[in-house]
Amino acid sequence: MHKQRSKRACPVCKSETSYFIKEFNFVLFDGHPMRDGYDLVHCSNCNFVYADTTITQHDLDDYYANLSKYESKSISTGGGYTTYDKERLIVTADYIHSQLPDLNKRILDLGCASGGLLKELKHLGYRNIAGIDPSIACVNITRREVQCDCFQFSLFDDYEETVGKFDLIILSHVMEHILDVDAAMNKLLGLLNPGGCVYIECPNASNYKNIVHSPFQEFNTEHINHFNLVSFVNLFSAYGFTKQHGGTKLMKLASNQDYDAVYSIFRRGSDKALSNAIGPDEHILSEIALYISRSEVIFEHMNRQINNALNWNGKIALLGIGQLAFKLLLNPTIQFDSDMLFLFDNNAMNVGKTINGIKVRPGEQIAELVEKYQFPIIITSTIFEKELREQLIKMFQNSKSIKPEIIGLSESIYVA
Ligand SMILES: [Zn+2]
Repeated sequence: MHKQRSKRACPVCKSETSYFIKEFNFVLFDGHPMRDGYDLVHCSNCNFVYADTTITQHDLDDYYANLSKYESKSISTGGGYTTYDKERLIVTADYIHSQLPDLNKRILDLGCASGGLLKELKHLGYRNIAGIDPSIACVNITRREVQCDCFQFSLFDDYEETVGKFDLIILSHVMEHILDVDAAMNKLLGLLNPGGCVYIECPNASNYKNIVHSPFQEFNTEHINHFNLVSFVNLFSAYGFTKQHGGTKLMKLASNQDYDAVYSIFRRGSDKALSNAIGPDEHILSEIALYISRSEVIFEHMNRQINNALNWNGKIALLGIGQLAFKLLLNPTIQFDSDMLFLFDNNAMNVGKTINGIKVRPGEQIAELVEKYQFPIIITSTIFEKELREQLIKMFQNSKSIKPEIIGLSESIYVA
């Protein structure tokens, strides 16, 4: 292992050198800025694990801004939350209340999505709450459902004068997506009242190894920073914050699967307090190595399932075009030919996009195409596998002639 100059400085300590961990490639929607993949590295100074890439925040923001033009139809129909989402948001709101009991404090949820957490905070009696989100669909839902201030901005827009200053800023599942973490931290400083606090929550990189729903799921095109309690402290102390409290928690995904998160509350101090930094993270590298080795075994098994399916007539259909499909499409046996490969997704945002020229079609077209092409169907979402399988079985239950092969990949997780 040799030290290398990083394409992207360490988001936590700004060191310019790192050690290579593993290369990640993806077969993505045509036009996606991360089509060349990235190297996963760890900082040579603080051990922080992150995606080392030359793409810029601007490239990413442009891509997501374009996507949001199409999202309203898929979000506005949903809007509601699953029971597990609601439970998770109530736990977070109660925790914030325990740390900041004054109901008059001004609170901002930066990246508020559809306002679920703001709704629970309002329910607890907080009177001065606001949200910011780049998606107009989300902003409209928040305004309607929570009846609080909500502004449509991207994180790095100029909105300080419009929104004012806050006593608490919530960054829940935001920081793992940010390329320019330094700019984000300076944004927080510009939005906080003296003595104000930040509540931050991210997936917990130290525990990726404990729950593998899908191989390498945390190393994807969206999560490019891998935080835990140590890196939270190292990052925030470099900007003059001190840790008030924090911990880890298991939350439930929509599908009842566990998901491990790390959270902390930091208070803004008067000076930079570098002395609070913990220093190099002693455990993260072995924790990440274990996650990678567990993922590798599962990923190989999934590729064997795909190869077996392709053995039948060389054709294949994938249902559920997301992070797992982006990795499985690297399988060299798959032919990117529109008579051989078929891509389906139920999310209106993905339908119509192309991957190496192959169009993503709505799930309801499966029946018609399977009759013509006789392909096996691989469900490429482990989280929604049960629901998707039920949908397929229903689709074919009245057909005597067509009974397509339906292959779920979560088998690989249990077998491997
Ligand atoms: Zn570092």
